[in-house]
Amino acid sequence: MSAMLTLALSKGRILDDTLPLLAQAGIRLFDDPARSRKLIFPTSDPALRIVIVRATDVPTYVENGGADLGVAGKDVLMEHGPCGVYEPLDLRIARCKLMVAGRIDEQARQGRLRIATKFVRITRDWYAERGEQVEIIKLYGSMELAPLLGMADRIVDVVDTGKTLKENGLEPKELIAVISSRLIINKAALRWQHARIQPLLERLTAAVAARGE
Ligand code: AMP
Repeated sequence: MSAMLTLALSKGRILDDTLPLLAQAGIRLFDDPARSRKLIFPTSDPALRIVIVRATDVPTYVENGGADLGVAGKDVLMEHGPCGVYEPLDLRIARCKLMVAGRIDEQARQGRLRIATKFVRITRDWYAERGEQVEIIKLYGSMELAPLLGMADRIVDVVDTGKTLKENGLEPKELIAVISSRLIINKAALRWQHARIQPLLERLTAAVAARGE
């Protein structure tokens, strides 16, 4: 493992909310990753660089040592399933709720519910725990469409303001989990790079506490 620490982030909410936290921890970027096609970014800390990966790939990069640290939504971590990473810090950013949603004018249904979602594992576990047999339809986006087109009865998705659901004639039905982004750390990196990681973890913990939200 190199002496340089690598932190994996994803574009969108996580990047937008993590950069101010890093700045508060004294770490700045020279370029804006949101406006760049580059994937590797040096920071004002010569021993820390940032890589941009897909949100769902962050646990994979950290688990396999491609990155020493990462920021991933709890929804992504739950869907990824058990992996050998530490999750020492709730960054309290990109907060939302993982919910079951359905049509406002939902009709009672006989037989198995059909659930459209990109969260197949979470959905399977959620209904299995309740002893309910459901049919899961895997989608990669625009889940809200499925109940409107009669393709599914319900969806499992992350909800922030609920505006997207409402604008599509849907409403939240059940709360599965409250979601926020977590700092994750590769286990071997924490052991071998402890002297570098510990101060970073402390600065980030202080930055999160200082925001007090
Ligand atoms: P909403 O504010 O409920 O209308 O959310 C808008 C869309 O953004 C929804 O379709 C969600 O899939 C997505 N979304 C909301 N919060 C998050 C989050 N923290 N991380 C990823 N996607 C989100």
